[in-house]
This record gives sequence, C-alpha cells and structure tokens, in this order.
Amino acid sequence: MKENVKETVTQILDNYLAQNNRRKTPERYAILETVYAMNGYFTLDELGKRLAEERRFPVSRATLYNTIKLFLKLRLIIEHHFQKQVTYSAAYNKGGQFFQICTLCGKVTDVKATALVKAVESMRLRRFKKDSYTLYIYGVCSSCQAKLTMEKKKQENKESK
Ligand SMILES: [Zn+2]
Repeated sequence: MKENVKETVTQILDNYLAQNNRRKTPERYAILETVYAMNGYFTLDELGKRLAEERRFPVSRATLYNTIKLFLKLRLIIEHHFQKQVTYSAAYNKGGQFFQICTLCGKVTDVKATALVKAVESMRLRRFKKDSYTLYIYGVCSSCQAKLTMEKKKQENKESK
C-alpha cells in the first residue's frame, strides 16, 4: 500500500471512530490494511482467507461483514455487482481500476490500461474532487468463445448431414 494512501484511509477511520466513541480495535485496522493490500476486487470470503492465511489474523465472518459495512459507509471501499456475485475494492486507488467481465460465465479479470489512466488523470472535472474510478468492459472470454465456436460447428455438422 502506498504511504500517502495508507495515511489517508487510516485517518478517515481514526476520525470516525474517535467522533463516534467507537473502539479502535486491531481487527478494524488489520481489515483496512488487508483491503488496501488486495489486488483489485475481492469477495468477503477472499478477504477473510487472506486475513487468516497471510496475516495470521483470523476474524469472524460477523466482524468482517460489519467492518465492510462500516467501510462502505465511510466510502473507504466500493461495492461491485458482477453478475450474481458481490465484490469489493479499495476506494482510494490512484490509477483507477479496469475490469473485463465475461457476460457468459461471469469471469472478471483486471486490465492494465496505461493510456486510459493518463486520459482520466488529465480530465478536468467541474466542481468535483475525484477519489477513484472504475471501468467495466463487457464481452466474452476466450474459453466461452471457444465453446461457442464448438457449438456452432456441431450445429453446422448436423445441418450438413
Ligand atoms: Zn466466459
């Protein structure tokens, strides 16, 4: 996690907990750090697994769920609805996030898009301070394309008989 991003998001959480007389539990900070260390989007299960396995910091599903709800409220994370799956990603993410989504199987992959990053960064937004941005590219993945081609061939063979 970049130092300035870490400072910003920790400050947001600190302020909220102080203002609302809520405890600064180590769980909340461990979850925040892990969220910002995740690459791109993640599900609640994936986040829990990462906490338990890599950070050796297992938290209950209830704690995870409540903390994620708090982070959503504080706009520290963004909720995505890919197909039927709910996923999350860090909100303060310089460089933006680009995803390609297969509309047939629902597979989501990260896209590197340096030219797009440059284009968005140089955009002038009127009366608006940008936090982050996300771009979804919808289409068909290569394995679904292969399946479609095979089915088409089968169909053609049937028709020619
Ligand atoms: Zn697919």
